[in-house]
Amino acid sequence: MHFDNRYATLSPKLFHKQAVKSLPTPMAGHFNTELAKQLQWSDAEQADWINIINGSNLPQEADPLAMVYAGHQFGQWAGQLGDGRGLLIGQVFDQQQKLTDLHLKGIGLTPYSRMGDGRAVLRSVIREYLAGHALHHLHVPSSNAVGFIYSHELQIRRERLEPSAILLRTADSHIRLGHFEWINQYQPDLLQEFAQHCLENYYPDCLNAESPILAMAKQVIDRNAYMIAGWQLVGFAHGVMNTDNLNITGSTLDFGPYGFMERFRPNWINNHSDNQGRYTYQNQPSIAHWNLWVWLNNLIPLANTKLANAHDKEQFKADLATCLEDFEPAFLTYYRSGLAKKMGLPQDDERCFDCGMAFLRILQAEQLDYTSSFRRLTDHAYTALRDDCIDTRAFDDFLSMYHEIRKDADQDSLDIDMQQHNPIYILRNHMAQRAIELAEKDDLSEVERLFTLLSKPFEKQAEIERAEDLAPLPSDQPEVMVSCSS
Ligand code: AMP
Ligand code: MG
Repeated sequence: MHFDNRYATLSPKLFHKQAVKSLPTPMAGHFNTELAKQLQWSDAEQADWINIINGSNLPQEADPLAMVYAGHQFGQWAGQLGDGRGLLIGQVFDQQQKLTDLHLKGIGLTPYSRMGDGRAVLRSVIREYLAGHALHHLHVPSSNAVGFIYSHELQIRRERLEPSAILLRTADSHIRLGHFEWINQYQPDLLQEFAQHCLENYYPDCLNAESPILAMAKQVIDRNAYMIAGWQLVGFAHGVMNTDNLNITGSTLDFGPYGFMERFRPNWINNHSDNQGRYTYQNQPSIAHWNLWVWLNNLIPLANTKLANAHDKEQFKADLATCLEDFEPAFLTYYRSGLAKKMGLPQDDERCFDCGMAFLRILQAEQLDYTSSFRRLTDHAYTALRDDCIDTRAFDDFLSMYHEIRKDADQDSLDIDMQQHNPIYILRNHMAQRAIELAEKDDLSEVERLFTLLSKPFEKQAEIERAEDLAPLPSDQPEVMVSCSS
């Protein structure tokens, strides 16, 4: 690996350096060889992945540190947070010379553990491992993971005793919106140095702008709008969109009680701890907007620095607010364009969005499965779709509008778009659950099967597919409950 630990060059007030507290008798969970190669792991490193992830044989250049940050959790100021069970072990260049964070999760107590035990359970590590992999191959910007290990010898108490695990996660950045909140609240003198670091490492083209901060703010807003549009299009609900769980590069991070939507219910909430439904699927765009508003407020003190180039503070505040006005149109542009591709409709036809909404209304009214319904549309399986509807008249009206819009378009190329934007396989809760239950008995075969399946979500894999991969559980079977405890 080729390390360049740039975060560690920042003020030591922003982190705490410490070693990994390894797991006793670590067992092999899963290893993503392709990602390791992409990150330029040597053959020796690949052969010793268990000890690397366990922190017992880290590469010499690794320099593990726990980051401090703050955040708003469920809309409330939560004060200081931080890596309570994670360590940034270093930053490496991948094959494309892109700097990538390597972060271990589940490594024991840090100064930021608060009431927690610093550990992660096998169940949540498998869920995060498979979801990052799934999103990556669905082309949604996301953290991903090189692998995980687990241990029966160290059992962790959540609702029950569970095996412990460590995940080696990758992300283009672990700098959260909440980093700015912590600095602004507790060490405001560091704000300029920190913003400069973000600009140089993640938004270097903004350095030459008249106001580098405003230029960066615009890009952060745009990247988050793109990520959220991606979530909505694949039916992903993050579950805990606190400001400490969104980052400045707009890649999905820290998904615990996430879910991929099955039957189409816009007010669906996968996180059973979210009683008020703050983080439902349909709320995600507005919550992202709210989180970005919180973030922008923490940039105001930069008004008087060269990074802002503002005439006065009031003007700078107004300029930041103007940046946020771009969020909704950016989100809608990405979403509309993605929906047109999923629907197989020409983007430039103004009836296209209404037609997409008509289809979604049918899925909602009939409680149809989001993923397989779009795939049926892709396969022109209109009769099968119609047969699942009670209100066949609404379906017929939709279908005639659909054919009308498509009739003069290049249908072959629209069909190719559909095949590339409508997955056959997503990670349904019951699929992850089955993999977890087997893994807890040391049978990793289902993790392996799902890993393969989700590597190519748009391709039929009849030889490894199970019928349960393609549909929600029958409604007489209990739903898998996903709690916040991880
Ligand atoms: P999350 O909502 O899972 O992203 O976590 C919120 C905060 O709680 C973060 O600062 C985590 O590091 C911390 N945290 C979560 N679980 C634990 C744990 N088991 N031990 C220590 N800290 C934790
Ligand atoms: Mg978090």
